[in-house]
Amino acid sequence: MKKKKKQNKKACSEIKVNFTEEDVISRLKKHFPNPKTELNFRNPFELVIVVLLSAQTTDIKVNEVSPKLFEKYPDPYSLKNAPLEDLYEILKPINYYRKKAKFIKEAARLIVEEFQGNVPDNLEDLMKLPGIGRKSASVILVNGFNKPAIVVDTHVKRVAKRLGITCNTDPLKVEQDLASFFSKENWTYISNALVLFGRYICTARKPKCYKCYLVDICPYEPKNLKEVKKNDSSNK
Ligand code: SF4
Repeated sequence: MKKKKKQNKKACSEIKVNFTEEDVISRLKKHFPNPKTELNFRNPFELVIVVLLSAQTTDIKVNEVSPKLFEKYPDPYSLKNAPLEDLYEILKPINYYRKKAKFIKEAARLIVEEFQGNVPDNLEDLMKLPGIGRKSASVILVNGFNKPAIVVDTHVKRVAKRLGITCNTDPLKVEQDLASFFSKENWTYISNALVLFGRYICTARKPKCYKCYLVDICPYEPKNLKEVKKNDSSNK
């Protein structure tokens, strides 16, 4: 068993791609010239809160609820003192709203008490906030501070694997593979672009290879090269 694991690891490290970083970026830019998170926010504090609320919930739902929350609690000082019952009421349409209400209240308290009311702009301190893991901290760095970080979510993992940039499944290893393939100046772009690319083009089921600009360099097989319209009679 041990031997098999070692062999897999070796095979994994031998994966090579036949394209350059520029090949990927130039094609991705045709899809997403200026990619951004789809969560609405006006400052790093709001970004922390909407990222916390977005776990297991669509960005659309979070964007519906967050204006009401920020109207009443516009900064960490007011949010840390918010009555939980009131937060429950506002956040009710969101999955796991009770747990998230506690998280955002505690995050606000920590921002005030540990970071002088300012959202920290580094991975280590961001990850001290409740409910903020490495992926969420990277989203905040990239979108809130324009700092280089690599976001690895389920979409990015899938795309990186299909392109052959990684053969790992552990998010940290995928992040390391992406970090060594793309130069640091492109990390911010890549983080947002790959999330959207995985969400809308290289989807988990039936990837839209028929309209993908990366189709000429992508080693993934079988490709889905034929668009099937919902009312296409040939599909009946
Ligand atoms: S060609 Fe298909 S599998 Fe390859 S990156 Fe594009 S959508 Fe994904």
